[in-house]
Amino acid sequence: MKDILTSLPPYLKMENDELWLTEDDRENLKISYRIKEIIFSEQSPFQHVMILDSYDFGRMLVLDGVVQTTSIDGHIYNEMISHVPLQFHPSPKKVLIIGGGDCGAAREVAKYKHVEEIHMVEIDEKVVQSCKEHLPEVSGNLSDPRVRFIYTDGVAFVKDHANTYDVIIIDSSDPVGAAKELFSYSFYENIHRALKEDGMMVCQSQSPIFHKDILKQTYTNIRQLFPHASIYTATVPTYPGGLWSFTIGAKIPLSLPDTSSLPADTKYINDAILTQCFQLPQFMKTILS
Ligand code: SAM
Repeated sequence: MKDILTSLPPYLKMENDELWLTEDDRENLKISYRIKEIIFSEQSPFQHVMILDSYDFGRMLVLDGVVQTTSIDGHIYNEMISHVPLQFHPSPKKVLIIGGGDCGAAREVAKYKHVEEIHMVEIDEKVVQSCKEHLPEVSGNLSDPRVRFIYTDGVAFVKDHANTYDVIIIDSSDPVGAAKELFSYSFYENIHRALKEDGMMVCQSQSPIFHKDILKQTYTNIRQLFPHASIYTATVPTYPGGLWSFTIGAKIPLSLPDTSSLPADTKYINDAILTQCFQLPQFMKTILS
């Protein structure tokens, strides 16, 4: 800990003997968390990977100073990005996750016994290793034999896999650096090709409050490529603005699922949320119209 403290990155500061992480990726909004301890800190070839123990949100994964997931609210995002497509797809057997290095989405997908293969394409092995070791509240120490970890760029990976997957989950970080391309039209074109004829994709499409342009562009791209596109939301306290959006693109219509296969041990999603999460507030309808 002492060694780490002597070379703090700019987003971690000691103030009056207290350690604070300040997310300062927005020009006019900074969000700060008081940190108990730096559990892990290493520069990977792609980003600065940290696991921090915070006072209010427990352990958290922080990439280049931006909070990705936490022990306290990580389940909300991970359940919503996984169970919604898996419930609406008629028979998901082969699932691809792009990104998702904290393993939280893969952990949720692995709760479905009828899923036969889970391919996790993550660019940064260091994220997976550190979360498995130091963030078990989110990763669950994932060791399911159906999960295959593939450490490569998701953008290149999907180009070579036509007509392969039932469900693709794009669990990316914000659209900067290696994740920027994961929000592009050409990437979604390749996702469309990588899905089987009844396939379905979902991506996190950012904050409807602070990233209106990204949300609108993502929805527009997906609607151009897929006959069925829908947006749903959840509230994730550590993401700026709280309210977060997910966009589904499907090759077949989304019909009300039989929720009997919803795993019993979820902490956020239930039958009612599954059917109501597509109800959008009026300001979002306006953005998307
Ligand atoms: N739930 C989080 C959020 O919305 O902030 C993101 C989860 S996960 C930590 C995001 C992962 O995407 C990171 O581990 C990052 O390394 C990975 N990633 C970024 N660009 C990628 C790419 N081009 N291919 C594969 N994985 C990528």
